[in-house]
Amino acid sequence: MKKSRYSHFLSRRDGKVIAYNSWTGGLALMEEDKYKDYCDLISNPEKIDSLSQKEEYRDLVSKLRHGHFLIDDPVDEFSQLELKNRLDRFDTSRLGLIIAPTLACNFKCEYCFEEVKKGSMSTETIDSLVNFLEDKAKTVKTFSVSWYGGEPLVRFDLVEELSLAFRDICGEYKVAYGAGMMTNGYLLTREIAAKLKNLGVSSIQISVDGPKQIHDKRRPLANGQGSYDVILKNMTDIRDILDLNLRVNVDKTTRKEDIAELLTDLVNNNLQEKVNLFFGNVEAANEVCINIAENCYDNKEFSKTEYALHNLALDFGFRLEKLPSPLASYCSAQSMNSYIVDPQGLLYKCFNDVGITERSCGNIKTPVDSFHPNLFPFLNWNPFKNQSCQDCNILPLCMGGCPHRIIWRKEKLENNCESWKYNLNEMLEIICQSRLKQRKKA
Ligand code: SF4
Ligand code: SF4
Repeated sequence: MKKSRYSHFLSRRDGKVIAYNSWTGGLALMEEDKYKDYCDLISNPEKIDSLSQKEEYRDLVSKLRHGHFLIDDPVDEFSQLELKNRLDRFDTSRLGLIIAPTLACNFKCEYCFEEVKKGSMSTETIDSLVNFLEDKAKTVKTFSVSWYGGEPLVRFDLVEELSLAFRDICGEYKVAYGAGMMTNGYLLTREIAAKLKNLGVSSIQISVDGPKQIHDKRRPLANGQGSYDVILKNMTDIRDILDLNLRVNVDKTTRKEDIAELLTDLVNNNLQEKVNLFFGNVEAANEVCINIAENCYDNKEFSKTEYALHNLALDFGFRLEKLPSPLASYCSAQSMNSYIVDPQGLLYKCFNDVGITERSCGNIKTPVDSFHPNLFPFLNWNPFKNQSCQDCNILPLCMGGCPHRIIWRKEKLENNCESWKYNLNEMLEIICQSRLKQRKKA
């Protein structure tokens, strides 16, 4: 038996120890004496097997093995992780599409990474998309869709038409179907939310930039008017219909007091128990939004703000249950059977490239070539070759980070580390506090 290289232990002020394993994502609170027993065990690698048979260690060892903190000697976690990653990338039993029925948007955000384009899916492209699924449905077991844009609700009619066709095909071929949507939230009324639910959409992600005066300046409607009040009302109205993920965009101009104001608004609308709140780092992802680059944090800088803002959210009574979770791959761009489809039917691997036609990797109407120069680098991107990732004890959480930064933006690998790399202990403490609070309430 030996210790897992992906175990993390963190002493708390109350004397207890947070135990977290990034391979399993398991989190536990240990009594200090049990943690000392664990340290005794692993400090005697040659005796660990015999010690673990003793009465006083038996229960602890069984729990530590269950949580993957102790593993069998022959287990090579790194190689297993690499295999898990490969299996995930080349798993053809799952099909995932992120679909932009339109690139048109009712907002004009100052940092938007999509060039302003109009145009929605034609009947011909819709037919091709349906044919594409009909063909794939013969071999896949699951099909997941994420609606995206532009603003997908600007063309709710297309979302509806395609969803109905997808549901029929999946029903016919016994393929499990699930859908989510990324929206600015402005058109998400209770009526639309109920319709979306009926169409198989179960979760929604809405983004805001801060309280009213900031959000309305940075994410105004295309006509310049503010959007904050309507979004807040919509979130309040639909909170019992759809799972709500609220992304709060953050950059160097974000002030703690502004976020406090936003959180106050959410609490005043009883949303603190209903939304899954998280803070997202705004990135200058391509030439279109290069003008905001100087305000953007790198991941290391962002990690401090991320911690401070989550701490604030905890004080406001938000549930912060989402653990840093193990991944099979960093994102769907690396998966063989996963594409982003634009309104013309062009396929892309990454959100940041949608609308830049020279970055497309195929067309929904023709068979995909895995060796396409815009596709192959994503499939072939391999963090397991890098020494720093090999040595990293959060590799299961990060999997080498965003491949687009390396492939297209030519970032150095050391700038690609996830914020967990820098703030994992602090974030675990916050999550632990949140869970303890919830337990007290229950
Ligand atoms: S490659 Fe990076 S930016 Fe593109 S979808 Fe994946 S995580 Fe997002
Ligand atoms: S990119 Fe950084 S944080 Fe991610 S696995 Fe590699 S070394 Fe670890």
